[in-house]
Order: sequence, then C-alpha cells, then structure tokens
Amino acid sequence: MNAPINIASLLKKTKDVFRFHGGVHPPENKTQSTQLPIGRLPMPKQLVLPLRQHVGNIPKTKVAIGDKVLKGQLIAEAEGAVSAAIHAPTSGIVSAIGEAVIPHPSGLPDHCITITPDGEDSWIERHPQDWRTTDVDTLINSLHLSGIVGLGGATFPTQIKLRSGKTTIHTLVINAAECEPYITCDDMLMREYHEQIVNGIAVAKRLLGATNVVIGIEDNKTEAIKAMRAAIANTDIQLKIVPTIYPSGDARRLVYLLLGQEVPHNKRSTEVGIQVFNVATVLALYRYFEFGEPALSRVVSMTGNVEQPQNFEVLFGTPLLDLVKAAGGSKADTSHYIMGGPMMGFNLPSENVPITKAANCIIAASPTLFEPTPPAMPCIRCSRCADACPVNLQPQELYWFAKSDNFEKAHDYNLFDCIECGACSYVCPSNIPLVQYYRYAKSEIIALDKAKEAANIARERNEFRLARIEREKQERAGKHAARAQGAKAAETSHDAPTANDKQAAIAAAIARAKAQKNADNIQPQNTTNLSASTQAEIDEINARRVAAGLTKQSPIEVNADKQAKIAAAVARAKSQKAEVDTLRQNADNQTKQPVADIEKQAKINAAIERAKTLKAAAAKETVNDVNTQPVIDLDKQAKIDAAIARAKAQKAAALKAKENQPKE
Ligand code: SF4
Ligand code: SF4
Repeated sequence: MNAPINIASLLKKTKDVFRFHGGVHPPENKTQSTQLPIGRLPMPKQLVLPLRQHVGNIPKTKVAIGDKVLKGQLIAEAEGAVSAAIHAPTSGIVSAIGEAVIPHPSGLPDHCITITPDGEDSWIERHPQDWRTTDVDTLINSLHLSGIVGLGGATFPTQIKLRSGKTTIHTLVINAAECEPYITCDDMLMREYHEQIVNGIAVAKRLLGATNVVIGIEDNKTEAIKAMRAAIANTDIQLKIVPTIYPSGDARRLVYLLLGQEVPHNKRSTEVGIQVFNVATVLALYRYFEFGEPALSRVVSMTGNVEQPQNFEVLFGTPLLDLVKAAGGSKADTSHYIMGGPMMGFNLPSENVPITKAANCIIAASPTLFEPTPPAMPCIRCSRCADACPVNLQPQELYWFAKSDNFEKAHDYNLFDCIECGACSYVCPSNIPLVQYYRYAKSEIIALDKAKEAANIARERNEFRLARIEREKQERAGKHAARAQGAKAAETSHDAPTANDKQAAIAAAIARAKAQKNADNIQPQNTTNLSASTQAEIDEINARRVAAGLTKQSPIEVNADKQAKIAAAVARAKSQKAEVDTLRQNADNQTKQPVADIEKQAKINAAIERAKTLKAAAAKETVNDVNTQPVIDLDKQAKIDAAIARAKAQKAAALKAKENQPKE
C-alpha cells in the first residue's frame, strides 16, 4: 500500500501519449491469473439470471416456470430504450422465477430467472447478419435483442452507445488499459481472440461512422500487445501503449492519454466526437452479427486466494462457487470475495451469488492479501490525496465538507466530478476512507435534490391552482358585471314611467289595501274559534257523510244552507200562523161552521204542526249545528209528521161531521 509513484519511469514510457495528472501504481498482481489459457467450466446444475444486470430498466420476463428453453432463447426482453435483454445461456427448463441474492453491495435479493440445464446445450436457430453490407440502422436496431452491455464493468446497454444522436463520432477508442490490479480478462481475450476483436472493432467503427480508431493498451500486457499488433497489421487502426498507472482505464483518462483531448467535466466524450468501447464489448458485437450469438457468457478472472488463479469463460448465472471450484478452490484463510478490482470493486454479500455481465473479476480475499484497514486518524493536510487525484480535485476539502454535511460546498468543489477511483484513499497516510465520505455526500445531495424537485413540483402545482382559482374568480366577476350592465341597459332602453302609470300603481296599491282590510273585517263564522272537542265532532260527522256517499260540504256552506232553509220554514210558519189566527178569529165570530171550514181548520192545524216540527228541527240543528241528521231527512220527517197530522185532523173532522148530522 501507499507505494510511491515512479514518475521518471512513467515519463519515459509515455513519450507518445499525454500524461494526465495524478494516478497511483498499486502492486499489479496480474501474473497469477495469466499462466493458463482461458478455461471453461462444467455445465452448472442451475443458472440464476438476475434481471438487473445492466444500467437502465429491468427487462420484461418472457417465460414461465416449467417452460423449456433453448440456448440463446430470449427469456427477458429489453424494456424501454435503456435496457438490455436476457437470454438462456443453455438449453433446459425454467425452474424458478423469483427473488434471489444477487451480486450487489446491498446484499438484497432481486428478481431472477432460474434455469435447470438439460445437458444438451441445444441452440435456438441463430440469425447472423452481414455487418459489412447491411444497413447501419437495421444493425443497431437489432442490437436491442442482443443483450450486449459494456463489459468493462459499466454495463451500459451497447445499442445506446452506438446511436450517436446529433453529434458525429470521428474517433473510436478501444479500451484495453485494464488498469486495476488482479484483473486480466481483457489481457487474455486479446491474447486468444485478437482476430475476432479486430473484426469487432471494424463492426463498431462502421456502426459509429468513425474514421479513426485508437487502441490503448497498458505497457504491462506484452503478450496482448504483440497479438494485437499482428492482428491490426493490415488495418488503419492505431495501437498506443499507455503507462501502467491507475486509473488509466477510466474512459476520460484514456481519451486524454491517447488523444490529448480533455473532455469537459459537464459533457460526455461523444459530445466531442469520441466514443469508447471495451475490447470485450467489441468482441461480443462481432459474435452477435457474425454468428447470431447473443450475450450468454463472458471471460472472468478468478484470482486472489484460490489454488489456481485463472481466467474462465463463464455462462451468465453460473454460481460463484462453481467458478471458485474450477480455480482449484479457495484457500483455507479466505475471508470473503470481491467483485471487480481491489480499487473500485466491492465485497460480495454472500458466496451464493451468480456471475453476471458486470463480473469481470472475482478476487478471493484473505487477511494476508488485504490487510485490515487501520483506524482512521485525523487529516494532517499533507495534500497527497490532491496529488493523486486524476480529476484535479481537492479531496481533503471534499472530505471536510462531506464530514460536516456541508453538501452545498462539496457540490461547489465539484464533488460529482469524482470518479470514485479511490486513489486518494490509497495514498492517504491517515487511512481516512475518503471515497466512502464522497459516496455518502453524493447520495445525500441526490436525495436532497429529489426532495427539492418534489417540493418545486408541489409548489408549481399550488401556484397553478391559485392562479386557476383567481382566474375563475375574475371570470365570475366579469360575468356578473356583464349581466348587471345588461339589466341597466334594458332599464334605460324603456321610457320613464308616466304620471298615469304612477296613478295606476297607487290605485292598485289602495285596492290591495282595501281588500286586505275587508278580509280583516270578515265576521267570524259560527264554525270559527271552535273548541277542540267541537272540531273533533265536526270532523267525525264529515267522515260519516263521506262514508254515506253524501257530497261533502264545507262547514260554512252547510251552515249557510241550513240557515236559509230554517229561515224559509220560519217565514212559512209565521205566515200560516197568521192565517190560522185570522181563521180562529172568524170561527169565534161564527157559532156554527160548515164542514168545509172544519177541513180547512184541519189543514191549518197540520200546517201549524208541520211548522212546529220544522222549527224544532231547525232549533235543534242550530244548537247541534251539523251533528245530527242531514237537512233532507228533517224535511222528509216533517212532511211525514204533517201527513199524519192531516190524516188525524181529517179523521176527527169526519167523526165530528157525522155526529152533527140530523138523525133519521
Ligand atoms: S491524504 Fe489524507 S491526511 Fe493527507 S490531506 Fe488528504 S485526507 Fe488529509
Ligand atoms: S476518489 Fe475522487 S477525489 Fe479521490 S482521487 Fe479519485 S477522483 Fe479524486
């Protein structure tokens, strides 16, 4: 650790390249895994394929449990522009779809498709394409189904990198720097597949429309340099040897090393006409177009604390322990496994994880290989971290800002330019875990920005709502004003009221007042101000009348009718009485009456009786109001009584006349 940088050596080796600031040169540890050719593993018992193996959206599952699949069959389709497909690495049965532990620092499970191989390794029908003559757009569009991602460790979907957009790509840079210690997969690929890699470079060059290609290889890969030189002999591809210095494999650092072109910190290399591809990625491109093979496997360095470090071509989904076993197994003091290099890799949360597209190297770690980091000491402001930073940052300042949660200042000091290479941590004599502080500050700033963005959206929505309410209010006010103006205009459009109109209005008001006064002066009827019991009786009588089928009259109408009848009967009785009185007077004046007078007298008596009956009935009706028989019944009764009285009178008159007759 903390090995001093041999600047004089680097300057000597970099006479045809552009030296960038900073960088470190940790022990390489690359020879251990380059002693044997790329090996192959026996077919695993199961292949666990995480859907999240790349940058972007997770793909959409296209199979179900129990499905039989062939090698190269699409099992998960790319979802959206930034996504990558997943294919069956061999033939077999889909035995599970669900959560499983994946190689991620969090150790959290994720969605995976498990395939149980059938041992036949039967291919699906493949469709190679003539990448030399086929339309470029057709080729790029077909990559959506290839599942190819950046195999240098970035795992960015390759079809996105081939769409240049508005800018023109003039230079293709092939990254063969492989600057991290222990990792040798690209070195071995170039040794064994240099011809195919050069063909892959030709594919990428055509798809990008680049006119210039430069390969950058670190000077510690002599075998690879030799092989690649031979492969490009008859091409216009340049090969440049770059110093073995970390992080020369970083895309921006490599572009500067090879071309002397500084990519602005807020831009991508494509914006200055340069695209960067890893050697393993261009090899995958060639295999896809030439043989119709989607991304099914990759070369992985299995090194560190294992019996026989080696590179292996590994099917995606292969269990980590199968790979360890192929390398002779791990030594007894193995503490854990690291995925990636020791500088930028991470500790695997479990040994039961599968190999994925991002797994360029697995290092079996032990306390001997990686000594436990001593406790951090206070910063002594030695500025070694600033000297090592390849991005020209001030790591110690970023550390203070991150530690004190002064995120705004950290942002101002270009925290997000930090590539988390770890060079500053590597040289820090106080053993301060600087990169962890930067990762913490970045995540906090991202979280704050998201919260601020959400707050801004909420504020904008509220402002829009208030503006809408105000607008509606203004619209309502405008409508009211328009209506009021219309009414006023209508009023003024008519003539002013004349004197006659006013007189008529006054007369109408007086008439209304008189009518109201008359209404107030109406004498109460004998049916008004009744007691509750009397009103109840009235209601009961009315109910009986209705039940008897009689026309219902209002109490006032009934009363007036009866009053009229009674008055008529009384008048008749008075008249008859006066007549009777006159007759009596005459009878008294005569001592002897003829029979006719007697009959007349009987009629008079009958009339008197009838009048009396009517009067009595009327009196009764008056007292009891309408609570007895109907008037029509009383009349009938009176007539019957009168008839009886008449009959009696006639009979009496007849008897008397018989007595007065002379005897014979
Ligand atoms: S290297 Fe470490 S001790 Fe030195 S200035 Fe940087 S953070 Fe401080
Ligand atoms: S981790 Fe960041 S701050 Fe440290 S050396 Fe690398 S780029 Fe610079």
